[in-house]
Amino acid sequence: MVNSKSNSPRSMATSLVRNAGVRMTRQRRAVLETILSSHDHPTAAIIFERTKQHLPGISLATVYNCLETLSESGIINHLNFDNGPSRFCPNLQPHVHLLDDTNNRVLDVQLKPGLRPEDVFDLPEGTCVTRMDACLHGNVPV
Ligand SMILES: [Zn+2]
Repeated sequence: MVNSKSNSPRSMATSLVRNAGVRMTRQRRAVLETILSSHDHPTAAIIFERTKQHLPGISLATVYNCLETLSESGIINHLNFDNGPSRFCPNLQPHVHLLDDTNNRVLDVQLKPGLRPEDVFDLPEGTCVTRMDACLHGNVPV
């Protein structure tokens, strides 16, 4: 999925959108590049602020539309935690989220190497896990 010649946000955005069969627009490219450059699971408002620095004319409504399209296409993950605003994650590898309650951060957490969800959770007999979507809370040292 990642171009070996360049994994810049721009080239990643292009290949992700192309692979998903979504039409690339200037706005979608700018929003996706912002998300790909962010590792803090930003909210739409934060994505809007960051994208405006590269595309000053973009509106918040356009950012929301782009986020909806990118989420529905499976290019990014749309996350909802408790009653907070939606957040967005570009990491498409299997992972869960760790909410750092002390520092109000969201971190990606993967299973330890060699483990499967079936090894960690007491699942009903015969369950085949097809994707992970879990949220852990904790206090993480900075
Ligand atoms: Zn994530």
